[in-house]
Amino acid sequence: MDPKDFKDNGRIVIVGASLAGLRAAEALREEGFRGQLTIVGDEPDEPYDRPPLSKQVLKGWVPADHTKLPRLRAVDAQWRLGVAATGLDRASQVVRLADGSEVSGDSLLIATGVRSRRWPNPDEAALQGVYTLRTRADAARLQAALAARPRRVLIIGSGFIGSEAASVCRELGLEVTVTERGPAPLSGPLGGVIGAIAAEMQRDAGVDLRTGVSVLALDGDADGRVRRARLSDGSTLDVDVVLTSLGSIRNVEWLEGAGLAAGFWGVGCDAGCRAFDINAVVTNRIFVAGDIARAPHVLYDYEFLAMEHWDNAVLGARVAAHNMVCNEVDRWAHLLVPQFWSAQFGVNIKSVGVPSFGDEIVFTQGSVRARRFAAAYGRRGRIVGAVTFNHAKWIDFYRDQIARSGPFPPHPPGFDFPENMRVMPADFPARGVPTETPDVVLTGHDPSERRAEFRPRQR
Ligand code: FAD
Repeated sequence: MDPKDFKDNGRIVIVGASLAGLRAAEALREEGFRGQLTIVGDEPDEPYDRPPLSKQVLKGWVPADHTKLPRLRAVDAQWRLGVAATGLDRASQVVRLADGSEVSGDSLLIATGVRSRRWPNPDEAALQGVYTLRTRADAARLQAALAARPRRVLIIGSGFIGSEAASVCRELGLEVTVTERGPAPLSGPLGGVIGAIAAEMQRDAGVDLRTGVSVLALDGDADGRVRRARLSDGSTLDVDVVLTSLGSIRNVEWLEGAGLAAGFWGVGCDAGCRAFDINAVVTNRIFVAGDIARAPHVLYDYEFLAMEHWDNAVLGARVAAHNMVCNEVDRWAHLLVPQFWSAQFGVNIKSVGVPSFGDEIVFTQGSVRARRFAAAYGRRGRIVGAVTFNHAKWIDFYRDQIARSGPFPPHPPGFDFPENMRVMPADFPARGVPTETPDVVLTGHDPSERRAEFRPRQR
């Protein structure tokens, strides 16, 4: 089918009815696609926004079911919600669904995202009072549990979501313990220098933060409610709510046997969102966007980047939709400078680029003591990432510097400079050291890389 014919009469299937899936559907119509559009999603809800779940929803400010994503335009699609895709037959261009039905299409967008990694012991995970946080239903349950004013909340893992949840607990006046296997909160995505500041923020806010410690077991009472956590330092904690915040797992299982480069870090695709097959040959009609995508990035030595960021899902969906319907010479590249935000302990954190690609850090603006600063990350004399704490007005300056591979240390404008502008080791945990998984991960140069890094805890 030539592009003109495809735009009028083609059939596109989108699997994953969330941020990337919805925005891709809208962009396809924006691009003038008039053919048949089917959107398959295993959640029963219409697409909703996840960032408020760990912030406004947990605080009780916004009900979980008031997080529907705004519609930017009509998509005129056939929605198949509440049913999972279970298989893909590329030869016959068919997606198989869990209810036994099939959807055929000429082109496919894979946007199945990630899910929360569950507590590894299924009996303990099933105890009442043990939660994860990924979906609207998860957030509603956890919010209700916090509103019931438990005596102590335990949060296992101090990545962004665990840290945001800890912050909400303190705002609600709840006693909260955070355990972190690594040396500090956020040290996976932002390194140990920033991690030390994050640790200080948590402790100042009254969080009982325990680093270098893992939870070995969760004990329940006769009614099946969680009551106690046993820690690797020999201590025990009496708890009645536990949030396990152990990072995420890519939803790739339904692609088993489809011959695509799908694995631990997601589905490998080119910079134009076209999926690679298992031998690294690029496919023509299968596209990937959002948290599940893993694509090479020109700024990061063409290593494949896996990103769990809102902006990445939106832009990836836009690029994939365009490339699905355009002529070959008009294809776009998804060359986003990664960007992420988080709100915790009264601080608005923003990061750009890939801090963990760097090995050095320098505070460049503001005051660390006042927790209002910018810091840049460098590698071999180039700026590769930056983070701001309550200093977001400068983020565009850093993004521009990163995009043009500017010098490190950078020379930001203004007069508000920290006393100490010494370049220091950024102190990222060495590969294999257990800590929280960063939200942006460099996953090597091999398109069909399947390496797994998660190490289950040792009993
Ligand atoms: P998802 O939103 O994961 O959607 C994938 C969809 O596909 C899901 O509905 C899933 O159930 C469905 N699916 C999976 N398998 C199948 C199947 N086999 N068949 C059919 N459907 C399937 N990002 C930021 O930048 N800033 C933040 O502050 C921030 N806060 C966050 C807070 C929370 C609590 C969470 C969970 C995420 C947060 N994020 C944040 C990340 C951001 O929400 C994600 O990057 C974004 O949701 C990715 O969108 P997606 O469409 O790629 O994937």
